[in-house]
Amino acid sequence: MIAAGEVVEGPSSVVKELLENALDSGATEIGIQIFESGMKKILVRDNGSGIHPDDVKLAVCEHATSKIETVYDIESVSSYGFRGEALSSICSVSDMTVLSRPNEIQIGKKLECHHEKIYESDFAGPAGTTVIVQNLFYNIPARKKFLKSLKTEMKNIRDVVLNSAIVNFNVEFSLDCDDKKVFHFGKAKDLNERICQIYGEDFFNNVQFELLEDLKVTISGYLSKPDFEKTSKSHQILFVNGRHIEYKFLSFILSKAYEAVIPKGKYPVAIIFITIDPSLTDVNVHPAKREVRLFDQKYIDSMIFQIAAKVLNKTHIIDNKHFTSASGNFENNIDVKEDTLDVKFNFDYDEYRPSVVADSRQDFDYGSHKIIGSVLGQYIIVEKDNELYFIDFHAAHEREIYDRLIASDNKPNTQELLFPAMVKLSVAEYNCVIDNIMLFKDLGFDIDEFSDNTIIIRSVPELKAGFDHEKFMKEAIDELSQRDEVKNPIHSVAAVIACHSARRAGDVLSKEEMGLLARNVFNDNADMRCPHGRPFVHKISKSSLENIFKRKL
Ligand code: ADP
Ligand code: MG
Repeated sequence: MIAAGEVVEGPSSVVKELLENALDSGATEIGIQIFESGMKKILVRDNGSGIHPDDVKLAVCEHATSKIETVYDIESVSSYGFRGEALSSICSVSDMTVLSRPNEIQIGKKLECHHEKIYESDFAGPAGTTVIVQNLFYNIPARKKFLKSLKTEMKNIRDVVLNSAIVNFNVEFSLDCDDKKVFHFGKAKDLNERICQIYGEDFFNNVQFELLEDLKVTISGYLSKPDFEKTSKSHQILFVNGRHIEYKFLSFILSKAYEAVIPKGKYPVAIIFITIDPSLTDVNVHPAKREVRLFDQKYIDSMIFQIAAKVLNKTHIIDNKHFTSASGNFENNIDVKEDTLDVKFNFDYDEYRPSVVADSRQDFDYGSHKIIGSVLGQYIIVEKDNELYFIDFHAAHEREIYDRLIASDNKPNTQELLFPAMVKLSVAEYNCVIDNIMLFKDLGFDIDEFSDNTIIIRSVPELKAGFDHEKFMKEAIDELSQRDEVKNPIHSVAAVIACHSARRAGDVLSKEEMGLLARNVFNDNADMRCPHGRPFVHKISKSSLENIFKRKL
């Protein structure tokens, strides 16, 4: 009754189905072994309920399932599998062996399906089930051709196991690849512990757990604190009722929510769990069950946006007024067109960007600002035209240096080092510097090759005292070697120089220095973001203070 379609897309979908069966069987320990990205062999072993010896053969038959009794049960399915389709589909495109024994039965069954012939024998091994899949797609060579690279397949397998390990934190998981351990997580006592096991403590400390609830839906998750960003979207994961879902608008919604704090090209972390009454979702949309149709997508989108806004409001108040108004209006204004990636939100996002970005384009009278001083070791406070401005001085200084470095009409002043600096590098790093020697020259560095993967830095651009050449070099090389095509290499290295030579949090600035920085900030054309894209000015208007103190009616 269900138009089932193909389940077996590739090795990772095999792993996913076998894992789900193991979890459905109540296993508390699952071991996965992969050989040649699964093309040679996939083995999944569990300590779950096992299959009764009389049923093993049936289990690999088409549409055999023990998980629903009538078609009406489909409405409320809570197990992963329910279509009785996985084992038979996998079996039809590979050589499959199933070894299974329920705990209470002495002799279980071994079933070998080899080139469409089935061999049965007794099995007296450990209780639980082991499924071994070999020679995947041996009989459909065309399918093999369409597979992604082995590396991509292995990454997909890893993700499948990790996603499953997140939700099933009380289950022990191990993954081995070509006899090498990829990971092993013992049973965790809660989700926090599992997140730590998988991503490490540093990650855990940089995300915030939040929960939002209403009548229809519960949404919870771990989301980036403002400065915690990743270079890819791979840490944006959505689960609906314990199932990992690929939801194409997730990253878009998150990028909107984090727009003011995370620069373009970087992505916030968001591991999100949505719980919904299963009868309000439809898990049969995608044959491999990766997409779920939600009863009210706009509503879910607004929940995702709101949980992100809640994290940001708690951890970093950029502009309270704007954030609350944006999320408050979200539900009415969001307009996500289905089936197209070209989504547009109706409301004006400039509304909740720090408003000073827009204001800076107005004419400023340079003389009119008054430096109040620096606070908290990081910010300069300036009063101007009935407004207070907080300026993050490290970032503002970074911007100033960066703009100066990349100005095309500007040959940097260089200074010769009294003691040339020698920096020892790895072969790859050394080659990277040699390849980019002209680029460094344009930025004011005079670098020579020295023997044995060592470079010698003779001159540097005029920078602050105490500039750490070695640290700078390593970071610059890092930028240059991981840079994607779109980024301008000079700009990337200039950003590293700026970061290394700008005033740091905790530095004591003179009044003149603060005045110069402020003057630059209020300059007509200044960009109010640091080279990495973070805003560095925050404005509080007199009228918003009056609101806070209830001076206004
Ligand atoms: P489904 O999971 O949709 O029921 P499958 O083809 O994946 O269909 O599995 C068919 C049946 O085989 C299951 O309903 C279950 O009874 C049995 N089975 C498969 N794998 C296991 C396992 N690891 N442990 C116990 N039973 C299993
Ligand atoms: Mg199944």
